[in-house]
Amino acid sequence: MSDFHLTTLAPRIAVPDAADGPLSSRTWPETAHPYRSAFVRDIGRIFHAKAFRRLAGKTQVFTRRTEESDHSRSRLTHTLEVAQIARTATATLGLNATLAEALALVHDIGHPPFGHAGEKALDTALRVHGLGFDHNLHALRIVTNFEERYAAFRGLNLTLAVREGIIKHSRDYPAANHPELSEYFLDEQPPLEAQIIDLADEIAYLAADFEDGLAAGVLELAQVIGDVPLFASFYADARKQFPAAESRLLTNEALKQVLNALVTDLMQEVARQVQAQGIETLDDLRRAPQRLAHLSEPMEAQRKQAKSLLYANLYLSPTLEAEHAHAEEVVQTLFTAWTENPELLPFDHQARVAEEGAPRAVADYIAGMTDTYIEQAWMSYRESLQK
Ligand code: MG
Repeated sequence: MSDFHLTTLAPRIAVPDAADGPLSSRTWPETAHPYRSAFVRDIGRIFHAKAFRRLAGKTQVFTRRTEESDHSRSRLTHTLEVAQIARTATATLGLNATLAEALALVHDIGHPPFGHAGEKALDTALRVHGLGFDHNLHALRIVTNFEERYAAFRGLNLTLAVREGIIKHSRDYPAANHPELSEYFLDEQPPLEAQIIDLADEIAYLAADFEDGLAAGVLELAQVIGDVPLFASFYADARKQFPAAESRLLTNEALKQVLNALVTDLMQEVARQVQAQGIETLDDLRRAPQRLAHLSEPMEAQRKQAKSLLYANLYLSPTLEAEHAHAEEVVQTLFTAWTENPELLPFDHQARVAEEGAPRAVADYIAGMTDTYIEQAWMSYRESLQK
Protein backbone atom coordinates (compact mmCIF):
# COMPACT_ATOMS: atom_id res chain seq x y z
CA MET A 1 0.00 0.00 0.00
CA SER A 2 1.37 3.38 -0.99
CA ASP A 3 0.16 5.18 2.16
CA PHE A 4 1.66 2.60 4.51
CA HIS A 5 3.30 4.14 7.52
CA LEU A 6 4.19 2.38 10.71
CA THR A 7 6.46 3.05 13.66
CA THR A 8 7.85 -0.09 15.24
CA LEU A 9 6.96 -0.26 18.92
CA ALA A 10 9.49 0.24 21.72
CA PRO A 11 11.33 -3.08 22.19
CA ARG A 12 10.47 -3.29 25.89
CA ILE A 13 6.75 -3.62 25.09
CA ALA A 14 7.32 -7.07 23.55
CA VAL A 15 7.30 -10.16 25.75
CA PRO A 16 11.00 -11.06 26.08
CA ASP A 17 12.29 -14.38 24.76
CA ALA A 18 14.66 -14.85 27.71
CA ALA A 19 14.62 -18.47 28.91
CA ASP A 20 14.71 -17.29 32.55
CA GLY A 21 12.08 -14.52 32.18
CA PRO A 22 8.99 -14.80 34.41
CA LEU A 23 6.69 -15.30 31.41
CA SER A 24 8.88 -18.13 30.10
CA SER A 25 8.50 -20.07 33.33
CA ARG A 26 6.76 -23.47 33.36
CA THR A 27 4.75 -25.24 36.07
CA TRP A 28 7.39 -28.00 36.15
CA PRO A 29 10.78 -26.27 35.80
CA GLU A 30 12.83 -27.48 32.80
CA THR A 31 16.38 -26.73 31.77
CA ALA A 32 16.69 -24.35 28.80
CA HIS A 33 17.13 -25.96 25.39
CA PRO A 34 20.55 -25.25 23.80
CA TYR A 35 19.12 -23.59 20.68
CA ARG A 36 15.30 -23.44 20.87
CA SER A 37 13.62 -20.58 22.72
CA ALA A 38 10.90 -21.32 25.28
CA PHE A 39 8.16 -20.22 22.85
CA VAL A 40 9.58 -22.21 19.94
CA ARG A 41 9.37 -25.26 22.19
CA ASP A 42 5.76 -24.40 23.02
CA ILE A 43 4.93 -24.32 19.30
CA GLY A 44 6.46 -27.81 18.94
CA ARG A 45 4.41 -29.14 21.86
CA ILE A 46 1.19 -27.68 20.46
CA PHE A 47 1.90 -29.18 17.01
CA HIS A 48 2.44 -32.58 18.64
CA ALA A 49 -0.69 -32.47 20.81
CA LYS A 50 -3.53 -34.84 19.90
CA ALA A 51 -6.07 -32.08 20.48
CA PHE A 52 -4.27 -30.00 17.83
CA ARG A 53 -4.46 -32.79 15.27
CA ARG A 54 -8.16 -33.27 15.99
CA LEU A 55 -8.81 -29.67 14.83
CA ALA A 56 -8.61 -31.10 11.29
CA GLY A 57 -11.88 -32.95 11.96
CA LYS A 58 -13.75 -30.08 13.59
CA THR A 59 -16.17 -27.71 11.90
CA GLN A 60 -15.26 -24.08 11.45
CA VAL A 61 -18.46 -22.94 9.73
CA PHE A 62 -19.37 -25.59 7.17
CA THR A 63 -19.84 -29.15 8.29
CA ARG A 64 -19.06 -32.01 5.91
CA ARG A 65 -22.81 -32.65 5.82
CA THR A 66 -23.73 -29.25 4.35
CA GLU A 67 -20.80 -28.74 2.07
CA GLU A 68 -19.50 -31.56 -0.08
CA SER A 69 -16.45 -29.49 -0.98
CA ASP A 70 -13.05 -30.52 0.35
CA HIS A 71 -12.05 -26.85 0.30
CA SER A 72 -14.07 -25.16 3.03
CA ARG A 73 -12.08 -24.35 6.17
CA SER A 74 -11.73 -26.78 9.04
CA ARG A 75 -10.82 -25.47 12.45
CA LEU A 76 -7.23 -26.50 11.73
CA THR A 77 -6.85 -24.52 8.51
CA HIS A 78 -8.58 -21.56 10.18
CA THR A 79 -6.02 -21.84 12.98
CA LEU A 80 -3.14 -21.75 10.49
CA GLU A 81 -4.60 -18.64 8.84
CA VAL A 82 -4.85 -16.92 12.23
CA ALA A 83 -1.22 -17.88 12.93
CA GLN A 84 -0.08 -16.34 9.66
CA ILE A 85 -1.90 -13.05 10.34
CA ALA A 86 -0.74 -12.91 13.96
CA ARG A 87 2.84 -13.58 12.93
CA THR A 88 2.81 -10.82 10.27
CA ALA A 89 1.21 -8.24 12.54
CA THR A 90 3.40 -8.88 15.57
CA ALA A 91 6.67 -9.21 13.61
CA THR A 92 5.97 -5.95 11.75
CA LEU A 93 5.27 -4.15 15.03
CA GLY A 94 8.45 -5.49 16.64
CA LEU A 95 6.56 -7.70 19.10
CA ASN A 96 7.31 -11.34 19.94
CA ALA A 97 6.08 -13.11 16.79
CA THR A 98 7.03 -16.56 18.07
CA LEU A 99 4.83 -16.14 21.14
CA ALA A 100 2.02 -14.79 18.95
CA GLU A 101 2.31 -17.80 16.66
CA ALA A 102 2.11 -20.20 19.61
CA LEU A 103 -0.99 -18.38 20.90
CA ALA A 104 -2.67 -18.47 17.50
CA LEU A 105 -1.96 -22.18 17.07
CA VAL A 106 -3.54 -22.99 20.43
CA HIS A 107 -6.38 -20.43 20.40
CA ASP A 108 -9.15 -22.81 19.21
CA ILE A 109 -7.84 -26.06 20.72
CA GLY A 110 -10.72 -26.09 23.24
CA HIS A 111 -13.47 -26.06 20.62
CA PRO A 112 -16.03 -28.90 20.62
CA PRO A 113 -17.29 -30.52 17.39
CA PHE A 114 -19.93 -28.73 15.24
CA GLY A 115 -18.43 -25.23 15.60
CA HIS A 116 -20.24 -22.61 17.64
CA ALA A 117 -23.50 -24.58 17.57
CA GLY A 118 -21.71 -27.46 19.36
CA GLU A 119 -20.27 -25.08 21.92
CA LYS A 120 -23.65 -23.50 22.59
CA ALA A 121 -25.37 -26.88 22.92
CA LEU A 122 -22.74 -28.11 25.37
CA ASP A 123 -23.04 -24.93 27.42
CA THR A 124 -26.84 -25.22 27.51
CA ALA A 125 -26.63 -28.86 28.60
CA LEU A 126 -24.20 -27.97 31.43
CA ARG A 127 -26.27 -24.99 32.66
CA VAL A 128 -28.96 -27.40 33.87
CA HIS A 129 -26.29 -28.74 36.30
CA GLY A 130 -25.20 -25.25 37.40
CA LEU A 131 -22.08 -25.46 35.20
CA GLY A 132 -21.10 -23.99 31.84
CA PHE A 133 -18.83 -24.56 28.88
CA ASP A 134 -16.18 -22.01 27.93
CA HIS A 135 -13.70 -22.94 25.20
CA ASN A 136 -10.86 -20.85 26.66
CA LEU A 137 -11.14 -22.53 30.07
CA HIS A 138 -11.45 -25.89 28.35
CA ALA A 139 -8.32 -25.19 26.28
CA LEU A 140 -6.41 -24.49 29.48
CA ARG A 141 -7.53 -27.85 30.91
CA ILE A 142 -6.43 -29.61 27.73
CA VAL A 143 -2.90 -28.18 27.85
CA THR A 144 -2.47 -28.50 31.62
CA ASN A 145 -4.19 -31.81 32.18
CA PHE A 146 -5.77 -33.86 29.37
CA GLU A 147 -2.83 -34.15 27.02
CA GLU A 148 -0.72 -37.11 28.10
CA ARG A 149 2.47 -37.38 26.09
CA TYR A 150 5.42 -36.68 28.37
CA ALA A 151 6.78 -38.90 31.10
CA ALA A 152 8.01 -35.96 33.16
CA PHE A 153 4.70 -34.14 33.59
CA ARG A 154 1.01 -34.14 32.79
CA GLY A 155 -0.21 -31.81 30.04
CA LEU A 156 2.17 -29.86 27.82
CA ASN A 157 3.89 -27.81 30.57
CA LEU A 158 3.60 -24.66 28.42
CA THR A 159 5.11 -21.33 29.44
CA LEU A 160 3.16 -18.93 31.63
CA ALA A 161 2.86 -16.47 28.69
CA VAL A 162 1.09 -19.05 26.52
CA ARG A 163 -1.21 -20.23 29.31
CA GLU A 164 -2.09 -16.62 30.16
CA GLY A 165 -2.80 -15.93 26.48
CA ILE A 166 -5.05 -19.01 26.20
CA ILE A 167 -7.23 -17.59 28.95
CA LYS A 168 -7.11 -13.90 28.11
CA HIS A 169 -6.82 -13.55 24.32
CA SER A 170 -10.52 -12.96 23.74
CA ARG A 171 -12.08 -11.89 27.01
CA ASP A 172 -11.48 -10.89 30.62
CA TYR A 173 -12.19 -13.16 33.58
CA PRO A 174 -12.96 -11.21 36.80
CA ALA A 175 -10.46 -12.23 39.49
CA ALA A 176 -13.22 -12.44 42.12
CA ASN A 177 -15.08 -15.16 40.16
CA HIS A 178 -12.00 -17.15 39.15
CA PRO A 179 -9.69 -17.84 42.10
CA GLU A 180 -8.36 -20.89 40.18
CA LEU A 181 -6.86 -18.52 37.58
CA SER A 182 -4.98 -16.35 40.08
CA GLU A 183 -1.55 -16.95 38.52
CA TYR A 184 -2.68 -15.31 35.24
CA PHE A 185 -2.60 -11.60 36.28
CA LEU A 186 -6.38 -11.23 35.93
CA ASP A 187 -6.29 -7.61 37.07
CA GLU A 188 -3.84 -6.66 34.32
CA GLN A 189 -4.09 -6.35 30.55
CA PRO A 190 -2.64 -9.24 28.56
CA PRO A 191 0.50 -8.56 26.47
CA LEU A 192 -0.12 -7.19 22.96
CA GLU A 193 0.87 -10.56 21.48
CA ALA A 194 -2.24 -12.04 23.15
CA GLN A 195 -4.50 -9.04 22.48
CA ILE A 196 -3.72 -9.23 18.76
CA ILE A 197 -4.87 -12.88 18.53
CA ASP A 198 -8.50 -11.92 18.99
CA LEU A 199 -8.29 -9.46 16.08
CA ALA A 200 -6.29 -11.86 13.91
CA ASP A 201 -9.06 -14.41 14.55
CA GLU A 202 -11.82 -11.95 13.53
CA ILE A 203 -9.92 -10.86 10.42
CA ALA A 204 -9.09 -14.42 9.36
CA TYR A 205 -12.62 -15.73 9.57
CA LEU A 206 -14.21 -12.64 8.05
CA ALA A 207 -12.29 -13.10 4.79
CA ALA A 208 -12.47 -16.90 4.89
CA ASP A 209 -16.22 -17.06 5.53
CA PHE A 210 -16.92 -14.81 2.55
CA GLU A 211 -14.79 -17.07 0.37
CA ASP A 212 -16.32 -20.32 1.67
CA GLY A 213 -19.85 -18.90 1.72
CA LEU A 214 -19.60 -17.72 -1.89
CA ALA A 215 -17.97 -20.98 -3.03
CA ALA A 216 -20.77 -22.98 -1.39
CA GLY A 217 -23.41 -20.83 -3.08
CA VAL A 218 -24.94 -19.79 0.25
CA LEU A 219 -23.80 -16.18 -0.27
CA GLU A 220 -24.55 -14.32 -3.52
CA LEU A 221 -21.81 -12.21 -5.06
CA ALA A 222 -24.24 -9.43 -6.08
CA GLN A 223 -25.46 -9.17 -2.52
CA VAL A 224 -21.94 -9.02 -1.06
CA ILE A 225 -21.03 -6.28 -3.55
CA GLY A 226 -24.23 -4.41 -2.69
CA ASP A 227 -24.00 -4.69 1.09
CA VAL A 228 -20.27 -4.71 1.90
CA PRO A 229 -18.64 -1.48 0.64
CA LEU A 230 -15.19 -2.63 1.82
CA PHE A 231 -15.42 -5.63 -0.51
CA ALA A 232 -17.17 -3.74 -3.31
CA SER A 233 -14.45 -1.13 -3.75
CA PHE A 234 -11.67 -3.76 -3.94
CA TYR A 235 -13.78 -5.86 -6.30
CA ALA A 236 -14.23 -2.83 -8.60
CA ASP A 237 -10.45 -2.18 -8.50
CA ALA A 238 -9.75 -5.81 -9.40
CA ARG A 239 -12.21 -5.71 -12.31
CA LYS A 240 -10.52 -2.58 -13.64
CA GLN A 241 -7.10 -4.21 -13.34
CA PHE A 242 -8.14 -7.63 -14.74
CA PRO A 243 -11.12 -6.96 -17.04
CA ALA A 244 -10.98 -10.45 -18.56
CA ALA A 245 -10.72 -12.39 -15.27
CA GLU A 246 -13.67 -14.52 -14.13
CA SER A 247 -15.61 -13.39 -11.08
CA ARG A 248 -14.23 -16.17 -8.85
CA LEU A 249 -10.70 -14.78 -9.32
CA LEU A 250 -11.85 -11.18 -8.90
CA THR A 251 -13.49 -12.26 -5.64
CA ASN A 252 -10.21 -13.74 -4.44
CA GLU A 253 -8.33 -10.59 -5.44
CA ALA A 254 -10.86 -8.47 -3.54
CA LEU A 255 -10.73 -10.67 -0.43
CA LYS A 256 -6.94 -10.57 -0.49
CA GLN A 257 -7.15 -6.77 -0.40
CA VAL A 258 -9.79 -6.86 2.36
CA LEU A 259 -7.44 -9.01 4.45
CA ASN A 260 -4.55 -6.70 3.73
CA ALA A 261 -6.54 -3.57 4.59
CA LEU A 262 -7.74 -5.01 7.90
CA VAL A 263 -4.29 -6.21 9.01
CA THR A 264 -2.66 -2.93 7.98
CA ASP A 265 -5.29 -0.93 9.85
CA LEU A 266 -4.86 -3.10 12.95
CA MET A 267 -1.08 -2.60 13.05
CA GLN A 268 -1.36 1.15 12.47
CA GLU A 269 -4.05 1.52 15.11
CA VAL A 270 -2.03 -0.45 17.70
CA ALA A 271 1.00 1.77 17.02
CA ARG A 272 -1.19 4.88 17.30
CA GLN A 273 -2.72 3.76 20.61
CA VAL A 274 0.64 2.86 22.12
CA GLN A 275 2.01 6.27 21.22
CA ALA A 276 -1.11 8.19 22.31
CA GLN A 277 -1.09 6.50 25.73
CA GLY A 278 2.65 6.95 26.24
CA ILE A 279 3.28 3.23 26.62
CA GLU A 280 6.95 2.29 26.62
CA THR A 281 7.17 -1.00 28.50
CA LEU A 282 5.21 -4.19 29.01
CA ASP A 283 4.49 -2.98 32.56
CA ASP A 284 2.88 0.22 31.22
CA LEU A 285 0.79 -1.89 28.89
CA ARG A 286 -0.34 -4.22 31.66
CA ARG A 287 -1.50 -1.26 33.75
CA ALA A 288 -3.39 0.44 30.89
CA PRO A 289 -7.10 0.91 31.65
CA GLN A 290 -8.16 -0.94 28.48
CA ARG A 291 -6.88 -3.28 25.81
CA LEU A 292 -5.03 -1.42 23.05
CA ALA A 293 -5.38 -3.81 20.15
CA HIS A 294 -8.34 -2.90 18.00
CA LEU A 295 -9.16 -1.58 14.55
CA SER A 296 -9.54 2.16 13.89
CA GLU A 297 -13.11 3.42 14.25
CA PRO A 298 -13.85 3.70 10.51
CA MET A 299 -12.41 0.22 9.81
CA GLU A 300 -14.25 -1.28 12.79
CA ALA A 301 -17.50 0.12 11.33
CA GLN A 302 -16.70 -1.54 7.99
CA ARG A 303 -15.87 -4.84 9.68
CA LYS A 304 -19.14 -4.79 11.64
CA GLN A 305 -21.08 -4.10 8.48
CA ALA A 306 -19.41 -7.05 6.73
CA LYS A 307 -20.00 -9.29 9.72
CA SER A 308 -23.68 -8.45 9.93
CA LEU A 309 -24.07 -9.63 6.34
CA LEU A 310 -22.37 -12.90 7.33
CA TYR A 311 -24.77 -13.30 10.25
CA ALA A 312 -27.91 -12.61 8.26
CA ASN A 313 -27.01 -14.54 5.12
CA LEU A 314 -24.56 -17.23 6.20
CA TYR A 315 -24.41 -18.08 9.93
CA LEU A 316 -28.21 -17.79 10.28
CA SER A 317 -29.04 -19.07 6.79
CA PRO A 318 -31.53 -21.97 6.47
CA THR A 319 -28.66 -24.20 5.28
CA LEU A 320 -26.59 -23.63 8.42
CA GLU A 321 -29.58 -23.37 10.76
CA ALA A 322 -30.49 -26.95 9.84
CA GLU A 323 -26.96 -27.96 10.82
CA HIS A 324 -27.22 -26.07 14.11
CA ALA A 325 -30.43 -27.91 14.94
CA HIS A 326 -28.73 -31.24 14.18
CA ALA A 327 -25.74 -30.29 16.37
CA GLU A 328 -28.05 -29.34 19.21
CA GLU A 329 -29.99 -32.60 19.00
CA VAL A 330 -26.86 -34.78 18.85
CA VAL A 331 -24.98 -33.01 21.66
CA GLN A 332 -28.01 -32.69 23.93
CA THR A 333 -29.16 -36.30 23.45
CA LEU A 334 -25.73 -37.89 23.89
CA PHE A 335 -24.97 -35.64 26.86
CA THR A 336 -28.17 -36.69 28.63
CA ALA A 337 -27.76 -40.39 27.78
CA TRP A 338 -24.17 -40.52 29.06
CA THR A 339 -24.81 -38.35 32.13
CA GLU A 340 -27.62 -40.68 33.16
CA ASN A 341 -25.64 -43.84 32.26
CA PRO A 342 -21.95 -43.07 32.81
CA GLU A 343 -21.18 -46.80 32.49
CA LEU A 344 -21.60 -46.29 28.72
CA LEU A 345 -18.51 -44.03 28.67
CA PRO A 346 -15.04 -45.34 27.76
CA PHE A 347 -13.17 -46.56 30.82
CA ASP A 348 -10.79 -43.58 31.23
CA HIS A 349 -13.72 -41.16 31.07
CA GLN A 350 -15.65 -43.20 33.63
CA ALA A 351 -12.73 -42.67 36.00
CA ARG A 352 -13.18 -38.90 35.62
CA VAL A 353 -16.83 -39.14 36.67
CA ALA A 354 -15.69 -39.86 40.23
CA GLU A 355 -13.34 -36.85 40.20
CA GLU A 356 -15.41 -34.24 38.36
CA GLY A 357 -19.00 -35.50 38.44
CA ALA A 358 -20.82 -36.96 35.44
CA PRO A 359 -21.89 -33.68 33.74
CA ARG A 360 -18.35 -32.28 33.51
CA ALA A 361 -16.77 -35.62 32.61
CA VAL A 362 -19.31 -36.17 29.82
CA ALA A 363 -18.87 -32.60 28.53
CA ASP A 364 -15.09 -33.10 28.44
CA TYR A 365 -15.56 -36.33 26.49
CA ILE A 366 -17.89 -34.68 23.96
CA ALA A 367 -15.76 -31.53 23.66
CA GLY A 368 -12.75 -33.59 22.62
CA MET A 369 -14.58 -35.28 19.73
CA THR A 370 -14.22 -34.51 16.04
CA ASP A 371 -17.37 -34.12 13.94
CA THR A 372 -16.87 -37.59 12.45
CA TYR A 373 -16.40 -39.20 15.86
CA ILE A 374 -19.54 -37.69 17.36
CA GLU A 375 -21.56 -38.61 14.23
CA GLN A 376 -20.43 -42.23 14.70
CA ALA A 377 -21.33 -42.12 18.38
CA TRP A 378 -24.73 -40.71 17.40
CA MET A 379 -25.32 -43.54 14.92
CA SER A 380 -24.35 -46.21 17.47
CA TYR A 381 -26.61 -44.59 20.05
CA ARG A 382 -29.60 -44.61 17.69
CA GLU A 383 -28.90 -48.22 16.70
CA SER A 384 -28.79 -49.19 20.37
CA LEU A 385 -32.29 -47.76 20.82
CA GLN A 386 -33.64 -50.02 18.10
CA LYS A 387 -32.41 -53.20 19.72
MG1 MG B 1 -10.74 -18.88 16.00
